[in-house]
Amino acid sequence: IEMLDAADLEYLERRPPVVTIMGHVDHGKTTLLDSIRKTKVAQGEAGGITQHIGAYHVDVVHEGKSQQVVFLDTPGHEAFTAMRARGTRVTDIAILVVAADDGVRPQTIEAISHAKAAKVPIVVAINKVDKEGAQPERVKQELTEYGLVADDWGGDITMVPVSAIRGENLDTLLEMILTVAEMEDLNANPHRPAKGTVIEAHLDKARGPVATLLVQNGTLRVGDIVVAGSALGKVRAMIDDRGERVEQATPSFAVEVLGLREVPRAGDEFDVFANEKEAAAIATGRATSQRDSRLLQGGRISLSGFSQQAKEGVLKELNLILKADVQGSLEAIVGALTQLPQKEVQLRLLLSAPGEITETDIDLAAASNAVIIGFNTTLATDARLAADQAGVDVREYSIIYNLLDDIQGAMEGLLEPELVEEPLGQVEVRAVFAIGRGAVAGCMVLSGKVIRNCKVRVRRGNNVVYEGVLDSLKRMKEDAKEVNAGFECGISLSGFSDWADGDMIEAYRMVTKRRTLSQ
Ligand code: GDP
Repeated sequence: IEMLDAADLEYLERRPPVVTIMGHVDHGKTTLLDSIRKTKVAQGEAGGITQHIGAYHVDVVHEGKSQQVVFLDTPGHEAFTAMRARGTRVTDIAILVVAADDGVRPQTIEAISHAKAAKVPIVVAINKVDKEGAQPERVKQELTEYGLVADDWGGDITMVPVSAIRGENLDTLLEMILTVAEMEDLNANPHRPAKGTVIEAHLDKARGPVATLLVQNGTLRVGDIVVAGSALGKVRAMIDDRGERVEQATPSFAVEVLGLREVPRAGDEFDVFANEKEAAAIATGRATSQRDSRLLQGGRISLSGFSQQAKEGVLKELNLILKADVQGSLEAIVGALTQLPQKEVQLRLLLSAPGEITETDIDLAAASNAVIIGFNTTLATDARLAADQAGVDVREYSIIYNLLDDIQGAMEGLLEPELVEEPLGQVEVRAVFAIGRGAVAGCMVLSGKVIRNCKVRVRRGNNVVYEGVLDSLKRMKEDAKEVNAGFECGISLSGFSDWADGDMIEAYRMVTKRRTLSQ
């Protein structure tokens, strides 16, 4: 959605899902990627030559139609979170690989947290089912503890047993991906200039800067003028994942692009412009703002205006990552957090785990704009630096009460401040002097004080006869800034002159007050 403008809405067409494979090390992510690619791509192609460009697509026959699935082939979730940290979401569906002989491991849990934080649907591939000692049902059991319940167990998560190495059941996995994709609104407008994200980029000795661009909206064409990050260029040639030169790339497809003048960074956004002048202005602007934002906030780039707008009116959320010394502390803290009032601001716990605060936690926090809470734990080497660079708020506590107090404060900080009336003083009208067309009230300040330009409410008996601003305040015929209790003063209002003896003037001002959470 982030890549779409309001003007695209009329021209939307379905696009293939973009899939990332995640999971614990050695559970078979690379093998699965290779295996899918080999069985689905190479067999049909002349010579079966494929090119590594950071993403590839396969054709799958689904419901009688040939459809495509695009895989980002950067194993692990580093790329995934690094990109999200910059505010772009490139993945539509995450495949979580869990080895059937090893079960749920730390990086499995991390991957689940990351996908959940990004609100990316998960399809589980239970891998290595060919192995002796494989226990796919046990994997399902373990995953329920992390909120993933298999559909054959009454849940809503598709789990497919596969053998990546033997290429078994991969067709089912692909079919399932398409089934999940159908439930997502995967649309884009191919009839507009392209925009998307840089997946990979490097400097090639012979070809110059080379960048793989994932088109997320519009169509990218040879000859287009592109700004990727702050790198400007004209697309000289495009090569797809099958090593073929292509003239255009439509939404969800990735192509290697030649012709940029500099090497952009993975995760950078790219856009196509109508002419070079406009593009150059944008590129320069981005170079400056990238530098500034890196200086000011450690490289965190805010979401586009569109997505911010879309978010308005939605309940506010405070994302948290909780690390503590022991499981017992975690339980106590989570228990206490759930007691906090969450009517206006909702707490989202992206991850709670025992152990020190790691760089991966920082990545997740940066990607999901979360605050990291450490309880009786420490920051891993490098994590502090990473946090500073990414502008991630890491708070450490050793007393639960302080932790809760701070979180409540942070939640209240998300509420819009409230404008409230602060009473200044009570003034009584004792005499009325007509002056020209207006009138001056001769008054006595009974309590508090009255200040020029403060707000006033004139009461007569039980009625309010006027509300407005105090325009003129005099003491002994001289203009006065304020007059305190026990002193006389002259008051006149530009909008009101119908004074009567005995009128009471309430003086007050409006102040902003931090709101508190309602219970
Ligand atoms: P990654 O670290 O998640 O990318 O894991 P790899 O793809 O490198 O696989 C780790 C090891 O598991 C390798 O030795 C693979 O050959 C092996 N492996 C991967 N998939 C399977 C499988 O389906 N069955 C068996 N028996 N071994 C597998």
